[in-house]
Amino acid sequence: MAQTKALKGFKDILPNEIHLWQRVEDVARDIFRRFAFFEIRVPVLEPTALFVRSIGADTDIVEKEMYTFNDKNGDSLTMRPEGTAPVLRAYVEHALHLKSKVARLYTIGPMFRHERPQKGRLRQFHQMSVEVIGAAGPLVDAELMAMAHMILARLGVSAALEINSLGCPDCRPAYNKALVDFLESRRDNLCDDCRRRLDKNPLRVLDCKNKKCRAEVEESPAITDFLCLPCGDHFAAVRAGLDAMAVPYRKNRFMVRGLDYYRRTTFELVTDQLGAQSAVGAGGRYDGLIESLGGAKNTPGIGFAIGMERLVLLLAANEPGQTPGIDLFIAGLGAAAGNYAFRLIHALRGIGISCAMDMDNGGLKSQMKQAGKAKAGHTLIIGDDELATGQAVLRNMASGEQRPAAIDDNDINTIATALAAEIQPGA
Ligand SMILES: [Zn+2]
Ligand SMILES: [Zn+2]
Repeated sequence: MAQTKALKGFKDILPNEIHLWQRVEDVARDIFRRFAFFEIRVPVLEPTALFVRSIGADTDIVEKEMYTFNDKNGDSLTMRPEGTAPVLRAYVEHALHLKSKVARLYTIGPMFRHERPQKGRLRQFHQMSVEVIGAAGPLVDAELMAMAHMILARLGVSAALEINSLGCPDCRPAYNKALVDFLESRRDNLCDDCRRRLDKNPLRVLDCKNKKCRAEVEESPAITDFLCLPCGDHFAAVRAGLDAMAVPYRKNRFMVRGLDYYRRTTFELVTDQLGAQSAVGAGGRYDGLIESLGGAKNTPGIGFAIGMERLVLLLAANEPGQTPGIDLFIAGLGAAAGNYAFRLIHALRGIGISCAMDMDNGGLKSQMKQAGKAKAGHTLIIGDDELATGQAVLRNMASGEQRPAAIDDNDINTIATALAAEIQPGA
């Protein structure tokens, strides 16, 4: 493995693209705030057993994709492959049910899965994920979808909301049986993966990307015809909630989730802006998961995650990268001017101006070049003559216009304040 390259599937996010990441986060945080969600930060490393128990031992994630290793004590640890289990673990560990009837939590950060890297899919990827714990009613489901929809809309990403219900432990077994019976009769036409899924997790056959499999499941029984009365009522009320908020959606009975713990409502936000149809966000209800992680019996929960890599790709398609700039570069020429510049930038930074100088005190040409590369809005040029006369040269880097700026014997803070006013946009 080359030591001077990032690992395969791991990517540096450079300063010229960071503004897109920050915008995604800023918009999401603002929408989370409006919906009364609070941030929680949980560790990247957790005991392996947490994910085996929550995600399920015979899922692709646990079987093949987790970064799992023994630490020096011989404990098996895993880099989190998703955000829900750690947040639920924290909810149980800190007894957050005592703090409020319903916990509304979000977290933003890196997740890790050893998958084949492709465009928009990395081994270290980033998610914004949201959990509502302690509310069972269908309006919460609709509210969450509306929130995800609002985040994408604010970012200018057009994504369609697709919804489905996966039923519950009362009604899903009958559906599973009907589905398996149907698929068994067509086993020979399914792809290798789906033949395996048929034995382990038949629901997953429904969302196989293989064209032949898609054609085969077209006629399969629909889960929505098998929902028990409470599940059917719940699904209808979710749709009524979306209608009440005028959030557009479509039903997709082929949408299932990769993880075992989902039940009742599931949803995805699907875009075709990245070529083939792909989900930028997905979520669902996981009543029962909290109890299985040691929480109170029958604690309901629902959540979703939005993948940030794909969002950033979508935003980047519409705008070029940009190198972040600074307000002011101070070119101090010679030892005395350099000293003055050093005092002045500190005073300017104290009142909010972003500024830099050449700490190694290079020549004028070199320093003007540095000012250009730093994307400085203005450059203040100070040499021995300017120090003597108390008048430096202030250059607007965009227009090239130059004008005098006072650097006389006044208190350095007074000089800084006057200069800050000079370089304000529009001044
Ligand atoms: Zn049911
Ligand atoms: Zn298949």
